[in-house]
Amino acid sequence: MNDQLLSTLTALREGFIAKLPGRLVVLQALLDKVKRGKSGALAELHRAAHSLVGTAGTYRLMQVSEAARELENIASFLQEPVNEVDQHALDTAYAGLASCAARSALNLVSAQLKRTVSARVMVVEDDPEQAEWLRSVLEEAGYRVGMYSELESFRAALQEADLPAAVIMDMVFPEGDEAGAQIIAQMKQHSLKVVPVIFLSVRQDMAAKLAAHRAGATRYLTKPVEREALLRVIADSAALAPDTPYRVLVVDDSKSQLAVHSHMLRQADMEVCESGNPLEVLNILENFPAELLLLDMHMPECSGPELAAILHDDERYSGIPIVYLSTETDVSRQLLALDRGGDHFLSKPVNPMHLVSVVCLHARRFRQSKEQAEAMRAMRYEQERHQQALDAHAIVSVTDVSGNIQYVNDKFCAISGYAREELLGKNQRVVKSSVHPGEYFDAMWEAISSGKIWQGEICNRTKSGSLYWVQTSIVPFLDKSGLPYQYISIRTDITHLKGIEQALLVSKEAAESASRAKSEFLASMSHELRTPLNAILGFSQLFTMDARIPQDARENAREIERAGQHLLSLINDMIDLARIEAGKLGFSVEPVSMESVLKGSFSMVESFARERGIRLLVNGATGQDITVQADHLRLRQVLINLLTNAVKYNKPQGTVNLSCNLGEGKVRISVTDTGYGIPVELHGRIFNAFDRLGEERGDIEGTGIGLVITKRIVEAMGGTIGFESIVGQGSTFWVEMPLAIEGENHSLEQADDAVIQHATAQSDRPIVLYVEDNPMNVRLMQQIFAGRKNLELCLAGSAEEGMERANQLHPSLILMDINLPGMDGYKALELLKADEYTRHIPVVAITANAMKGDEERCLSSGFSAYQAKPLNISGFLMMLDQYIQSGSARG
Ligand code: ADP
Repeated sequence: MNDQLLSTLTALREGFIAKLPGRLVVLQALLDKVKRGKSGALAELHRAAHSLVGTAGTYRLMQVSEAARELENIASFLQEPVNEVDQHALDTAYAGLASCAARSALNLVSAQLKRTVSARVMVVEDDPEQAEWLRSVLEEAGYRVGMYSELESFRAALQEADLPAAVIMDMVFPEGDEAGAQIIAQMKQHSLKVVPVIFLSVRQDMAAKLAAHRAGATRYLTKPVEREALLRVIADSAALAPDTPYRVLVVDDSKSQLAVHSHMLRQADMEVCESGNPLEVLNILENFPAELLLLDMHMPECSGPELAAILHDDERYSGIPIVYLSTETDVSRQLLALDRGGDHFLSKPVNPMHLVSVVCLHARRFRQSKEQAEAMRAMRYEQERHQQALDAHAIVSVTDVSGNIQYVNDKFCAISGYAREELLGKNQRVVKSSVHPGEYFDAMWEAISSGKIWQGEICNRTKSGSLYWVQTSIVPFLDKSGLPYQYISIRTDITHLKGIEQALLVSKEAAESASRAKSEFLASMSHELRTPLNAILGFSQLFTMDARIPQDARENAREIERAGQHLLSLINDMIDLARIEAGKLGFSVEPVSMESVLKGSFSMVESFARERGIRLLVNGATGQDITVQADHLRLRQVLINLLTNAVKYNKPQGTVNLSCNLGEGKVRISVTDTGYGIPVELHGRIFNAFDRLGEERGDIEGTGIGLVITKRIVEAMGGTIGFESIVGQGSTFWVEMPLAIEGENHSLEQADDAVIQHATAQSDRPIVLYVEDNPMNVRLMQQIFAGRKNLELCLAGSAEEGMERANQLHPSLILMDINLPGMDGYKALELLKADEYTRHIPVVAITANAMKGDEERCLSSGFSAYQAKPLNISGFLMMLDQYIQSGSARG
């Protein structure tokens, strides 16, 4: 048997079962005629029973067929008029047939219900995006979904598969603008007869809607449809069987009727409670939460409508739907009964399927509305709790659009000092202080009146006049047109925090001004100490160089110079340390070539090592191709410190090994000496300031802060420092620095070189102009120049004078002090460079501003070179020769 024939047969069979109760009514009427002795009635009864035997057999309702055959047989044996015994036999046969018919009807109902329980929804949609959305919505809601993008594939699927619980159908397809309606119209004739079809289309026009409904649509929805709305429609349409059975209370004073109807409902998987006494109903309902009452109309103690009226008065039960079941055929009386509190009227004898459908419909609606009410109650409860939490935590008020207070919570009253009655109806301005400027509130009003949330800190005034601060959020409530109709303000008391913030601000300002004072002090200290040291070191150096002075006096002068140098390094170290502590030591961390740093530091320590008879060795990589992320000058300072220590604290004829090892993203630079080593018990003190671990009693010079500075510098550049030491063997101090990211590799050395520009003026008699206000420095310079007879030293006591003299003399070189009275050295340089006539004269800065950054600043401002005071005379002379020579050469 093919599928189409099968489904046609199924439909016919279902049609036959649906009509069975009608046939039974006919048989019952014939039976009555037979009992009343109506002539020919028995033959009619026989024919009717016989016909039923055949058709029931055709539709494979074998039990019904058998029961009908029983009745047919009895009828065929009897003769009119029938006696009581015969009548009883006929009654029994009829009752058997009726019960078989009822069972078949119930089986049909439950089969139809089961079809919906499986809840398969077929979706016919050719727009892929919409189809995907529908699939996800339906699957999430627990449906099984069959998706069809073409009408033909849907048609084919429908013939093969079981009937779905519902069909969701688009209207417009390539076949035509009403192709969806057309296919449904065809299929409603056969397979889709009992299946709800929900149209979902972009078409909003009447023609489309009409076409859909004519085709047999259950509902017509226009796109876009909301998820919830769609699910509700499907659930309603598909009449899904509930997870928990509906609870029905059946009340009928006729025991047999009660039993029959209850049985019908139970067969449809409902939970049924039976009662023969309407007066008991209130008691029963206390323990049995019925979702529907099936009431007989006419009961002697209390009629159905009377009971309905009583229940209607009781709040607990007023919503329970009531379905009357009665032989009442008078429509006006039926309506009257419904008017008194019923929902539906069914006439006896009732078709079981009809009864189950009606009961399902009303019970489902009742359950849905109860669920909605429950959801509303839960929502209200949650809202109340939110409100409570808000009130417990925050200061809350609600105002209208003009700022008139409509609601304040207890916290608002408590903090403002006003009673609720004093606030309600008043304007919010009642707590306004004069702390904020008008624009502050203008901006706030602008935001909230345009529907935006505003947040900020507000200082308010209490009733007694004191101020309090609140962190405030104002949220506008908008009406349908998007305009605010009220504002809710939620505030937190931050008066205490504001106090702390104020105190912090004051102490921060104090700390900043102290730090500024410290920096200024350091800068001036540096300058003040270096100026006299310049003279001490300069003159002692001149003494040691002067061959006319006796040897022992020169030795003394060397001592002065050595002590001066020590004092200078002590001052430098202390200033460095102080600046590090104050966070003032600037770093310019950038990719730096390890090779240039190693070379630079090595050359600085070489002569010192040679003096002490220590060999400096490089092991392994020399830093070639290694670029680290560091401040060039500071890294060199670090290595010089470590190398110097390694030389200082070495054994005679010892060695110092420098090695570079690459690690993961970093390089380790190790300085290993062959010195006496550091006892383990002293290891913890090595990085303490001014702690020389007992060396202060020895001959080795030092200040005890070199390693502290070294450690701070390394860490400030993102590196780490450490050491290992074995007494008698020596120590290794190491530094690990992060490698620079590739591609950013350029050396600071190159930049340094680039800065030095030579623009020495040509002169027949090279003149060097020295701009300096300090007479002691002038005298020192004159002494130095006394040994350079080929040069002429000219002087200027101020920048202004220096400019004038530069114009007159056109010197080969200008030596410029920076800290000058009036115009400073920078400004003077700027003017010199701006003047066509003096632009090319090299200007060397000679300054006691020897802090980190000063040299860079000088060079980047356009100075050709930089010499720190106290002057290193031999270095200075070399520089001098270089400028004069290069100037002459160019000439
Ligand atoms: P300074 O060398 O000026 O005394 P440092 O801070 O550089 O100060 O070093 C602190 C102390 O650590 C030194 O006095 C010395 O006792 C010890 N020290 C430093 N480097 C070494 C080394 N390579 N070998 C042995 N002891 C060292």
